[in-house]
Amino acid sequence: MKKLVAGNWKMNGGLASNRALLDALGPVSGVNVLVCVPYPYLAQAQQRDPAIALGAQDVCEYAAGAYTGEVSAAMLREFGCSYAIVGHSERRALFGEDDSMVGRKASAALAAGVTPIVCVGETLAERDAGRVMDVIGAQLAAVLDALGPEAMGRIVLAYEPVWAIGTGRSATAEQAGDAHGAIRAWLQRHGVDGRAVPILYGGSVKPQNAAELFATADVDGGLIGGASLVAEDFVAICRAA
Ligand code: 13P
Repeated sequence: MKKLVAGNWKMNGGLASNRALLDALGPVSGVNVLVCVPYPYLAQAQQRDPAIALGAQDVCEYAAGAYTGEVSAAMLREFGCSYAIVGHSERRALFGEDDSMVGRKASAALAAGVTPIVCVGETLAERDAGRVMDVIGAQLAAVLDALGPEAMGRIVLAYEPVWAIGTGRSATAEQAGDAHGAIRAWLQRHGVDGRAVPILYGGSVKPQNAAELFATADVDGGLIGGASLVAEDFVAICRAA
């Protein structure tokens, strides 16, 4: 499958810097490129090269109603979002999202025609305790419960080890490959066509390590934080895919 490289801008940017960044992005042959911008800038990002897909960084689990401050999947769809990140570790750790809420958000996104990019991954303490697949398995099980096996085959997953996010310390290609292989095997064991589910790697991806990570079996692309804010770095990462 064609690799997918997604930029997660997180809570960064402004009208002027976004314009410069968006203007610097164009088609890169052989790879699907996506930028996930903060909600207020979805309108601004309508002006971009049409080869770049647009996404959000979160979505509400509810379709509409009295949910002050929330944004629905249908609203995202209206602004041209084809993807929404759900269950990013920052949302889990800082905003109290639990596994079942992440499942409901993935379901709400799919129902509106927005592909959820569901983030999973362990903390360093969990890795050191040998619990990587216990943690990821529980995260995946909640999403499978919410979606069922058929719809689970229509999502994107992102393996983002918490200890690698924003730390400069990426997982090695071997660690990423092991986790992605284990996730794919988990999907197959649970009745999901795991081959159809792209699994992105995220956590300190840079131009220097992107090619090796992307060449690893079962790594179907990347979810890029800090480096997606620097046009030349993001383009170099896309070209490495
Ligand atoms: P960094 O690339 O800044 O480590 O962030 C990764 C991430 O959280 C992408 O969602």
